[in-house]
Amino acid sequence: MARALVLNATYEPLCVVPSRRAVVLVLDHKAEIVHATGEAMHSERLAVDIPSVIRLRYLVKVPYRRRAALNRRAVFARDGHRCQYCGAAAESIDHVVPKSRGGGHVWENVVAACRPCNVRKRDRLLAETSMRLKRRPSVPREVTWVAVAVGRVPEHWEPYLQSA
Ligand SMILES: [Zn+2]
Repeated sequence: MARALVLNATYEPLCVVPSRRAVVLVLDHKAEIVHATGEAMHSERLAVDIPSVIRLRYLVKVPYRRRAALNRRAVFARDGHRCQYCGAAAESIDHVVPKSRGGGHVWENVVAACRPCNVRKRDRLLAETSMRLKRRPSVPREVTWVAVAVGRVPEHWEPYLQSA
């Protein structure tokens, strides 16, 4: 099922919900359609535009700064699904400083990697190899949670995520 991006009354991106949920919010007058998919959902009596982006009519207070949970999917989203050593399609997660050498399971020490690079690096430190990182791993931008929720961010969502 397709999903919709939910914006706060202030246009700040809030979360991603299944399209069906977005339709219910619009029908309940809790949200308005900002961007429609062009497709309609049919029930017995009516046809409803399926939204791709909706904006809540009321303000939701966001008391905390979201920090994307560290998992494989989130790391792949941050690294664009590319091996951070050679640029090939990523297949696994590599700890830059291996766990066996005291490396932590933290954003700053994990990168997406392809299988050959992972095998080649083994449990060595980067300095012990000829491998180089394309960029230093860091805690992702806040909007990364959107990419994590949907895999890849639809192009027409981008304008709504830039202010975050
Ligand atoms: Zn690689």
